[in-house]
Amino acid sequence: MPLREVDSMPRCAACGILVPCQEIHKEHEGHSIIVCSEKCFRMYTTYWYPKYGAKEARRSAAGR
Ligand SMILES: [Zn+2]
Repeated sequence: MPLREVDSMPRCAACGILVPCQEIHKEHEGHSIIVCSEKCFRMYTTYWYPKYGAKEARRSAAGR
């Protein structure tokens, strides 16, 4: 099974690791985000978004 290019691999919005094949797509505050687990989604919504949120969200949305 060939690995995907690093560039095309999504990163978890919460912990920042590359998520090669088990990414979870979520909608949050109108943005689509990618996380590696439900735990990270909760971390994103409760910690990252309130703290760094808008900036990070805009950066990942720019790639669309
Ligand atoms: Zn994660």
